[in-house]
Amino acid sequence: MSTGIVYSPECLTYTAPPDTPDRVFKTVEYFRSHGVDDFITPREYDEKYIRAVHTAGYMDRVGTVCKVMATGLECAHIRLSVDSCLTAGELVAEGELENAFVLCRPPGHHAYADAGGGFCYYNNAAVLARYLQKQGFHKVMIVDWDAHHGNGTEAIFYGDPSVLYASVHQSPLYPGTGEMTDTGSGPGEGYTVNVPVPSGTGHDTYMAIFREVLVPIGKSFHPDALVISAGQDSQRDDPVAQLRLCPVSYHMMTERLVHDVCPRTIAVLEGGYQPENNAPAHLAIVSALMGRTNYDTPEFNVEPDYARTAVRQAKEVLAEYW
Ligand SMILES: [Zn+2]
Repeated sequence: MSTGIVYSPECLTYTAPPDTPDRVFKTVEYFRSHGVDDFITPREYDEKYIRAVHTAGYMDRVGTVCKVMATGLECAHIRLSVDSCLTAGELVAEGELENAFVLCRPPGHHAYADAGGGFCYYNNAAVLARYLQKQGFHKVMIVDWDAHHGNGTEAIFYGDPSVLYASVHQSPLYPGTGEMTDTGSGPGEGYTVNVPVPSGTGHDTYMAIFREVLVPIGKSFHPDALVISAGQDSQRDDPVAQLRLCPVSYHMMTERLVHDVCPRTIAVLEGGYQPENNAPAHLAIVSALMGRTNYDTPEFNVEPDYARTAVRQAKEVLAEYW
């Protein structure tokens, strides 16, 4: 079994800044220049998989919104983004792939069951998680390291103990949700994990959060499949956020999740708005999925003193559940 990269050039045919084609195109160029040039073409799927997450009324509205947009974005692009994720899901479920990276746009994690937002229309990660459950992967963990909180994904699974949603995100920042004390509701209480971190947080704090919070909780939850909402706007120098991760950070986070939590991992592209910087981060994720370990330690980076308090506070809040 192997690592698959799902990608279709059709996703490059609209521009909705900052969601530009270069977010994917620069990565494809970079991958090819590094000998990674085997891309899987997305298959097409019935919309019943989207209906498992989104309401019929909202799906009708998405169709209307697309027609009035001046960006060239069409419903076909939104469906392609979902279908790219489902293709990875099907190949992993069939055992043809061990893990996968999905180069898709538009992103999805701000989309609720009945509303979009933040360049997101259908929630790719949520649709994928529900699809994986239908294929027999009963417990799914979603790890979201995009700089922004995945408010849509959180809401979709907030009362559901079969999908553990864990997010590390900059706070304060759009959309303003994701408080540490938001831990789920009803039977889902404890199955939402939020670790908000301040502007300026970088590699060392993220490593501590993974080592001390997310990986232990993941091991305890013991998911059958893992979805990464891989938004690389948490990388240094992104124009819309102020975090300071570097390519090796993404390599190490991916590696820990695959090795320590669940080998059946699918990383789907969310945000990331500095295409030239993001390309090496994307290769770092793929390299970790492939089991390659040749990444150097990051450059020295000074983080705010209070970044570390996020780790301590998260452990205190979550000790009630894990
Ligand atoms: Zn983002």
